[in-house]
Amino acid sequence: MFTRLRTRLTLFYGGLFGLALAFIAAFLYPMVSAQALKSAKGQLEATSKAFERIEALQTHQLRESAGISATDFGFRSAVAMAEIDPVTARTALANLHRRIGVDIAYLILPNGVVVSEPSAAELPPELIAKLMADETDHGALVLERSAYRAVAAPVLAPDNIGWLLVGARLDDAQMRSLASLTAIPIEAELLVHRGSSWMLTARSAEKRVEDVDQKARAPENDAIIEDRQVASMDGNDIRLQLSFPIAVALAPMMSLLGILLATGLVGLAILGVAAWFLARSITRPIAVLEAATRRIEDGDYSPVQIQSRDEIGRLARGFNMMVNTIEERTRTITHQALHDRETDLPNRQHFERALHEVVVESGYIYVGAIGIDRYSQIRDAIGYSNAASLVAALGGRLRERQMLAAPARLSGDIIGIAFVARSEAEAVLWLGETVTALELPLEVGRQRIDITAKAGFARLSEPSAGGQNPIDRASIALDQARKAHRKIAAFDADAYGDPVANLSLMGDMLRALASGSIFLVHQPKLNLRTGEYDGVEALVRWPHPERGHIRPDIFVPMAEETGHIRELTEWVLAQALKDQATLAAAGLSMRVSVNISGRLLGDPWLEQMVDRLAGKGLDKLCFEITETAVMNDPDRAMTQLRLFAEKGIPISIDDYGAGLSSLAYLKMMPAQELKIDRGLLAGLTANGRDTFLLRSTIDLGHGLGMKVVAEGVEDTQALAILQGLGCDLAQGYLISRPVPLPDLIRFLKENTHQTNHSLRVSQ
Ligand code: C2E
Ligand code: MG
Ligand code: MG
Repeated sequence: MFTRLRTRLTLFYGGLFGLALAFIAAFLYPMVSAQALKSAKGQLEATSKAFERIEALQTHQLRESAGISATDFGFRSAVAMAEIDPVTARTALANLHRRIGVDIAYLILPNGVVVSEPSAAELPPELIAKLMADETDHGALVLERSAYRAVAAPVLAPDNIGWLLVGARLDDAQMRSLASLTAIPIEAELLVHRGSSWMLTARSAEKRVEDVDQKARAPENDAIIEDRQVASMDGNDIRLQLSFPIAVALAPMMSLLGILLATGLVGLAILGVAAWFLARSITRPIAVLEAATRRIEDGDYSPVQIQSRDEIGRLARGFNMMVNTIEERTRTITHQALHDRETDLPNRQHFERALHEVVVESGYIYVGAIGIDRYSQIRDAIGYSNAASLVAALGGRLRERQMLAAPARLSGDIIGIAFVARSEAEAVLWLGETVTALELPLEVGRQRIDITAKAGFARLSEPSAGGQNPIDRASIALDQARKAHRKIAAFDADAYGDPVANLSLMGDMLRALASGSIFLVHQPKLNLRTGEYDGVEALVRWPHPERGHIRPDIFVPMAEETGHIRELTEWVLAQALKDQATLAAAGLSMRVSVNISGRLLGDPWLEQMVDRLAGKGLDKLCFEITETAVMNDPDRAMTQLRLFAEKGIPISIDDYGAGLSSLAYLKMMPAQELKIDRGLLAGLTANGRDTFLLRSTIDLGHGLGMKVVAEGVEDTQALAILQGLGCDLAQGYLISRPVPLPDLIRFLKENTHQTNHSLRVSQ
């Protein structure tokens, strides 16, 4: 209720004024009305006194007239003879009556007989008794319904021979002339008490009251009353009542109050309007400020326009300054929230927002994740701040390419980009060019840095994405590219599998190991000098009942993470020994290479395992270990490797050239075999730079006294080159895919003593 300040102020001022008015009226009214009533009362009292004087005067006149008449000789004679000659007495009375001009005239004889004119009203016996007893000689007298002022004079001859009683009417005219003596319109009434009620005998008011018997004395709370006892001749209670209605007395007061009220109301209205305008002039700038605060909520920081120099103006200026500061701070906070602190490149959140806004007219939008190779090594070498400058510089280079969104730093070594291409092939091409442009040497902190990078990419809106974020898909694609040692890779959903389902994968794996649904396949290694198959590599296979074949590079890392790699390795070792025995029994005795996870290297469990299997033909196996596996804890790893070598288990260095190759470690490792990663074979031509690299690697292996195996040989040209470069062994789809043991046995039986493998392949 009344939530607006303007309304409240208006009501407050108006109410205050109204209250003041009411207070004045409440104070004045009793004062003025008491004064009015007092003055009316005074007037009534004065009139009452005037009646008394008139009464005395009239009584005196009547007494004079009666006295003179009583002494008249003729009249006295008639009175003296009245008992004998009542007719003469009555005539004398009538003559007197006419002569002195009174309204009533009676003759009362000493024996109580009353002589009167025939039309005259009868005198009350109490009066006659009083006269005789000399108890009265003047006063008011009521005969029938009329009142009189009467005087009785003795008729002396010389003894008292009777009384002459004369009277003048006390009528309405008398009352009127009495009432007219005052300046105020009073009413005069003459009342006589009869029985239980009052009878009205005369009144000043024009209108006659019909039922005079019912006339009650005026109630005192309606009128101001001046009540006067009139001296009565016969003992009746006769009253003169002067009344003045309070309503009439207060009428001028009421009109005064009315005027006061009317002017008060006009004043109130004026004050209300003025208060409203005043309140508006105060609240309008406040409303402007309030609207401005609401605009800020919507991100509109425009200043308020209030020009006044008063407190409100100062408040507005303060408000504008505060808004400026908030805007500045908000901009800084927003910038910080959306940018990488080290490089000031947009961050992942910024990138996500930008992706929501991109639209293209034709083609598809692709999200790319470009990963800098060996970033942590570079950072360790040149320092964190230089590394950040390097990433910022690469971001700058990327910005020069045609991008749909600003390149953003997704994580330490990954920069996200968005671009348009008509097809996946075009995306590969465009991204390839982009990465090549990025790989130009850079100068950071006066150091020249050669960098290489890989990139993964994914369609922004891929129907089969399964709810994955496109940035995540691009990052996964980058991981896939890194694992596959490829420069560019599109997101491969099949290879990625179902990460949610992977959560329950380890339980499934343990059950599969127990039930025997996991099995080993073997890929033969061809000796390029003799054309014989010198050995096989055992690779684990898991046909999952619901998800189909699960690749080892999905579940092996998971087993490593969850600690289940021991169970897997134990099973693989046991199975490899069995398969080796089966091969030997088939007359194909050869070394079976087993992949040992880098996580297990240095683990005492592995030693115990080796000890347990030592007498069971473990020396017919070979341990393939990636070179990077040694790097976590080189001392323990080397000690363990030496121990295995002492027990006669040959060591093979797997995936050489895929990671960061360290000559120092390579030199120290007691290995007999070096397996060149298939990444080094990609795009191999007779005279390229890759051939040179391959030759040096082969020479290096030989120099360290190792046999060199080439992995992933897929075509005859590569095989020929490897042969030419002096590579000892080859393994790859060209020779044979990894196959189950029975197929391997069949294959080996069919192909032993094949001296020239290249001839066989070309046939
Ligand atoms: P790896 O030890 O380097 O094994 C060679 C991988 O290359 C195998 O993949 C094999 O099928 C594949 N390969 C062989 N020839 C060719 C070729 O000509 N072209 C191409 N593109 N690929 C070829 P696979 O079987 O999927 O195994 C992947 C990796 O999983 C292995 O790499 C190894 O690191 C790991 N792994 C496999 N079995 C085991 C195991 O029993 N224990 C452990 N710890 N790791 C295993
Ligand atoms: Mg291997
Ligand atoms: Mg390998």
